[in-house]
Amino acid sequence: MTKRDYYEVLGVSRNATQDEIKRAYRRLAKRYHPDLNKDNPEEAEERFKELAEAYEVLSDPEKRARYDRFGHEGVGFGERGFTWSDFTHFSDLDDLFGDFFSQFFGGFRESRKKRATPRRGRDLRYDLEITLKEAAFGAEKEIRFRKREICEDCHGSGARSPSDIATCPTCGGTGELRRVSSIGFGQFVSVATCSTCDGKGKIITALCPTCDGKGKVSVERVLSVTIPPGVEEGVQLRVRGGGEVGEGGPGDLYVVIHIAQDELFERSGRDIIFEAPISFVQATLGGEIEVPTLDGREKLHIPPGTQHGTILRLKGKGMPDMRSKQRGDELVRVKIVIPEKLTPRQRELLREFEEEERKKKGSRRGIIGKVIDEVKEII
Ligand SMILES: [Zn+2]
Ligand SMILES: [Zn+2]
Repeated sequence: MTKRDYYEVLGVSRNATQDEIKRAYRRLAKRYHPDLNKDNPEEAEERFKELAEAYEVLSDPEKRARYDRFGHEGVGFGERGFTWSDFTHFSDLDDLFGDFFSQFFGGFRESRKKRATPRRGRDLRYDLEITLKEAAFGAEKEIRFRKREICEDCHGSGARSPSDIATCPTCGGTGELRRVSSIGFGQFVSVATCSTCDGKGKIITALCPTCDGKGKVSVERVLSVTIPPGVEEGVQLRVRGGGEVGEGGPGDLYVVIHIAQDELFERSGRDIIFEAPISFVQATLGGEIEVPTLDGREKLHIPPGTQHGTILRLKGKGMPDMRSKQRGDELVRVKIVIPEKLTPRQRELLREFEEEERKKKGSRRGIIGKVIDEVKEII
């Protein structure tokens, strides 16, 4: 495979400033992030990695100078070629992809510390929407997702049969090319990755038809996930080994919980809020109403003289705490509904009511009250 020119990969000119290089990389990394290219994740991942390699070299003035003089061979990344463990700029993208990016590459970052151990497969993310009721009481959910697994027909080699794997004729199986050149009065040995075999030392003469030589195939998996009662928005449930398979074992699958907007309830931590419409007569005289709760309908006492916006509490009818399982409350916010149409009789009754109210106030009000009324009139 011929390597593309790093400047071409980033789409910048050979005399681009460091700033231009960084900007170009960030723009393209955003475009080719595998998670944003679900229809073509493999190609996106290749582009994403190619960008990282180009950026790794061009963002470092020393490496860039070597690349400018000697080309790809001047900055060969060892026998295996560029891998994510060579990448030192993860933090340059943190603000773009947030937590998810570090989670996505958590495995890669860890592997920087212990290079010797083979890398685990890629972690996967699955966004799962559940109802508020499922969040309250827990649930078993079946999820369906695609992931890449090792091709069973070639066991990941990418060859049609074991006899279709041959020693690379270019490097003789070492995976690298040594070139001795004379510079001044010294000799300079450069070691570069063999481009025929990409450093593997072996070439495949006939590709596995199942995976097209990639060694991996995309398969659909169905998995049952247990949602714990009291789960909160954004919680990540880890399914160990649910990710993609790598040399060092499978990565994990992270199921990210999203709770759908409920028609009746609004969540506020462990409490849920319900807005109960009542008539102004119920609010004034008090009474009993029925309200929905997560556990079914429940009777609620309205005390006489309840004001609009008053919050009445149904203890223990909220969401359970994910750890202690202790439940919060349901807060019933009273909404007084004013009738828009009245019968002549109702109007008459209300006028009478108003008259009565005036008399009540008048008898209670002393001299001070009258003075205040007069002041109001002057104003
Ligand atoms: Zn295969
Ligand atoms: Zn080779």
